[in-house]
Amino acid sequence: KTFEDAFQHYPLVLEQIYKQNFVKPSPIQCQAWPLLMQGKDLIGIAQTGTGKTLAFLLPALIHIDSQPVPRSQRNGPSALVLSPTRELAQQIETEVNKINYKGIRSICVYGGGNRREQLAKVKSGVEIVVATPGRLNDFMMNGIIDVKHVTYLVMDEADRMLDLGFELEIKKVMLDIRPDRQTVMTSATWPPAVQEMADRYMKDPFKVFV
Ligand code: AMP
Repeated sequence: KTFEDAFQHYPLVLEQIYKQNFVKPSPIQCQAWPLLMQGKDLIGIAQTGTGKTLAFLLPALIHIDSQPVPRSQRNGPSALVLSPTRELAQQIETEVNKINYKGIRSICVYGGGNRREQLAKVKSGVEIVVATPGRLNDFMMNGIIDVKHVTYLVMDEADRMLDLGFELEIKKVMLDIRPDRQTVMTSATWPPAVQEMADRYMKDPFKVFV
């Protein structure tokens, strides 16, 4: 498989991939891209270092760009990535920033970070929010982030989010997120608690192991 197999209709995406000098898609990318581009829900059982971030990010960019409502008329992000830790959230944000796709803007929102700076950036308009569940709830409760336009949701490292006790915080976020969304979950392991979470929040998900 090649990058062209997945993104032949998206030359601007290919351009961003070539810029990073990657030779070929990783196994999870080969499996995930076609499914995500068809709008399917997907569970990726994968560790860090497998290329899982770009596996869900590139389809997110294309998803955002193909939304029927123009970006300027959406008053909230179209894509949300939930992350267990600030470190992972920042890594994801770094990956987003390496890709410049049609001016899509992102913000990383996490506890312990400068709340005022994060707030100002959210207010200036973003299409992608990468967030830890606690700070996201803070921003939601204070009317700073409205997740009701989110149509592409990622739960990254779901097992770690549960290990860190974020179940209730995630539940609260999910109350506001529309049911007709696309959902991606990644997890390094597949214990019953993660399976239950997938059952609760995903629709006929495809599952890939790498
Ligand atoms: P991740 O598993 O998402 O944490 O990615 C680990 C690292 O692999 C990141 O620095 C990515 O930039 C890089 N990466 C992602 N996809 C590829 C690829 N197809 N070829 C080479 N490196 C990649």
